[in-house]
Amino acid sequence: MAKPKVAFYWCASCGGCEETVVDLNEDILKVADAVDIVFWPVALDFKRKDVEALGEKEIAVSFINGAVRTEEQEEMVKLLRQKSGLVVAFGSCAHLGGIPGLGNFCTRDTIFQRAYIETPSTENPEGTFPQEKTDIGIGELTLPEFYDTVKTLDQTIPVDYYLPGCPPPPDLVMNAVNAILTGQLPEKGAVLAPNKAQCDTCPRAETKPEKLSIAEIKRPWEIKIDPEKCFLVQGLICLGPATRSGCGETCIRANMPCRGCFGPIDGVVDQGARMLSAIASILGLEGEEKMTEEAVQKLIEQIVDPAGTFYRFSLPASLLRRKRMA
Ligand code: SF4
Ligand code: SF4
Repeated sequence: MAKPKVAFYWCASCGGCEETVVDLNEDILKVADAVDIVFWPVALDFKRKDVEALGEKEIAVSFINGAVRTEEQEEMVKLLRQKSGLVVAFGSCAHLGGIPGLGNFCTRDTIFQRAYIETPSTENPEGTFPQEKTDIGIGELTLPEFYDTVKTLDQTIPVDYYLPGCPPPPDLVMNAVNAILTGQLPEKGAVLAPNKAQCDTCPRAETKPEKLSIAEIKRPWEIKIDPEKCFLVQGLICLGPATRSGCGETCIRANMPCRGCFGPIDGVVDQGARMLSAIASILGLEGEEKMTEEAVQKLIEQIVDPAGTFYRFSLPASLLRRKRMA
């Protein structure tokens, strides 16, 4: 019997999601044995024309990581959608926009200005920017359009399943592959991870009191972090209350607060807003007493980069989506 065809593709991403496939270790041999990989630009020399030559839905499943930032990425994911029975948004950037999604706090012009003019290591007296078309005398060179706004995968094509995480941990990847191979998949649109918040599975949960008050907000490098206590009790912003579990509390076990890469649990539209409301309810208290407006304001001012903190992985998927430019 023919093996199911599988494709991997990356859009705007750091490459970490490709690493996680390699991190399957010996399990990758089981995957390679069970499926026929027909496209994987980072590892195998297939070309776009190889995908174009496939029939409609001939690929059983495409795992696509990265946000959609360029014209080329948009074209490729549309092509893979046409050729695939299932599409899985693999990792935070495909799922929610991820770190590349923070680009939505800027425009293409401000990003280009910073990258090609202002950075201290750049020497560009003529102010040359990448062009979509350049005539080089013997022909024309082209580059894909760099869009103004970063999109999640499902803002570009219909997505069947989501594998969260930055990157998704190998056990979740293997569970998903096994579910696909055995046809034991949940309802379409599901996130393939537990529908619980980090605080529900956190080893420090017992140290998080019902009513919590913060006297001062700190950044991790500013204090000696107690490895047993809830980060919020220590005045560190931990996105555990607003983030889905399933990562094995990787950061928390390494004594770092959760930064939110797994995204929200089911039914929460805006992870950043959920966390803001959790923080707002904490900031209002000083012991049992209500804080004065002034004291709350002072605390809020201690949160460095609130937008980047609360929307680090989810800006394009949030209600804000992008900064409005004047
Ligand atoms: S806020 Fe963070 S450290 Fe505290 S219980 Fe929740 S996940 Fe754990
Ligand atoms: S603890 Fe939070 S930031 Fe770290 S891997 Fe898990 S979900 Fe992602």
